[in-house]
Amino acid sequence: MKHAYLLAAVAACATPTPHDLPQAPWIADTSQLPPTAHPVGPLSEHYRAIGGQIVTAARVDRGAYAKLEYLTDRIGNRLAGSASLDKAIAWARQAMTDDGLVTHTEKVMVPHWVRNTEEAELVSPTARPLRILGLGGTIGTPKAGLTAPVVVVHDFAELEAKADAEKGAIVLFDVPMPAWTEAEGSHYGDIVKYRSTGASAAAKHGAVAILMRSVTARSLRTPHTGALRYADDAPKIPAAAVTTEDAALITRLASHGPVTVHLRLGAEKLDDVESANVIGELAGSALPDEVVVIGGHIDSWDVGQGAHDDGAGIVTMMHALATIKKLGLHPRRTIRVVCFVNEENGVRGAKAYAADHAAELGRTAFALESDSGGFAPRGFTLQAKDAEGMHRARARMADIISLVKDLGVTKLVENFSGTDVEPMVESGVVAGELVTDGRTYFDIHHTDADTLDKVDPQELADDVAVVALVAFIVADMPGRLDSP
Ligand SMILES: [Zn+2]
Repeated sequence: MKHAYLLAAVAACATPTPHDLPQAPWIADTSQLPPTAHPVGPLSEHYRAIGGQIVTAARVDRGAYAKLEYLTDRIGNRLAGSASLDKAIAWARQAMTDDGLVTHTEKVMVPHWVRNTEEAELVSPTARPLRILGLGGTIGTPKAGLTAPVVVVHDFAELEAKADAEKGAIVLFDVPMPAWTEAEGSHYGDIVKYRSTGASAAAKHGAVAILMRSVTARSLRTPHTGALRYADDAPKIPAAAVTTEDAALITRLASHGPVTVHLRLGAEKLDDVESANVIGELAGSALPDEVVVIGGHIDSWDVGQGAHDDGAGIVTMMHALATIKKLGLHPRRTIRVVCFVNEENGVRGAKAYAADHAAELGRTAFALESDSGGFAPRGFTLQAKDAEGMHRARARMADIISLVKDLGVTKLVENFSGTDVEPMVESGVVAGELVTDGRTYFDIHHTDADTLDKVDPQELADDVAVVALVAFIVADMPGRLDSP
């Protein structure tokens, strides 16, 4: 009932008119397309002409941006359990239906955590407000808040060394994230473990709360939220992110003497609620039971607009398939867009998809995700169950992406996929993620600054072009990426 109501409500709103693709006379007569059943020679040779048509059409199309504008400006951020997520789910289904795809939703129960009001301030040696965001999933403080001395640590070794001082204290994890480099990327994984597990580690020493330096290398005093994970064998304590500037201030003050902070978090965990993964597909012309999944996550944190994370990802996938459909192309396998729900604070959508489609995973040729922001495309990650499959998938993907090397798409990262597709790898599915130009992603990741203005329309269109090309070829080629 709830969803039927929302669908009607959204349909009544002005749905954006996608910019029309330029007329493409070369595909008016599909008999002119290269034969797709039995290509010989390298994939890039066979698909060069049709690939060029897909890329040319997608790069001048602003339909993905129009979709993202509607999602971000009209619906906004969309945490699991929120009314705006329900609206986004109804919108995504309607938008894909309008694009001519066959759509449905698949029920998923999701956690329902709400932030409510929160505040923090330095009490001594100087009084000053602190900019914070409670970490996702944190418990609240007592209603009146808590006031405690701060112990600053820079890693888990220091947390252990200062264990005696941490009883009754607020532990500040002041762990700076290095600047992004071409060679090493963001170091997000190295730093984010403190956000995920720091609260329980400090609670084992009797800490009453933690503050986490925001996981970013650059800041304009913007706090970054993100999920924490409470351990079963430690008391649950409140946890909030502070800005890098405020973390540095507290660390400087603490080097001269005691620092006291007041923290008040109104967060609470409510009962799980019903939500859904949203599916839109184009049936395969020859092997409709074989599937190529392309997806992203429809939920976001409850701050900003969830524009790069991961509004850009879902509109890239939605519009890539819309483009293939609009060009009148009929790949041999089914291409299925999956807007996974609850990636940010539970991954329930991805787990439900892998479980509900278990019988079909043997016929799933590829599962591609986009969840690294809608920046310029740079390549793909790939993950396969075994090393042989990995090598073969890598070789074929290198051949395919040679078609878009002029767009700067050259990177292939092995043995990594993405949160929403990784649960399928164990069942033999080759999975991967679109790699984008990640230089600035973590500047705005999980913040109030993740807004549409940070997304470049041409870069987003280029993502669509590259995904549409890869999805089409992988869905149409004779074997699979990992076939012997
Ligand atoms: Zn994301």
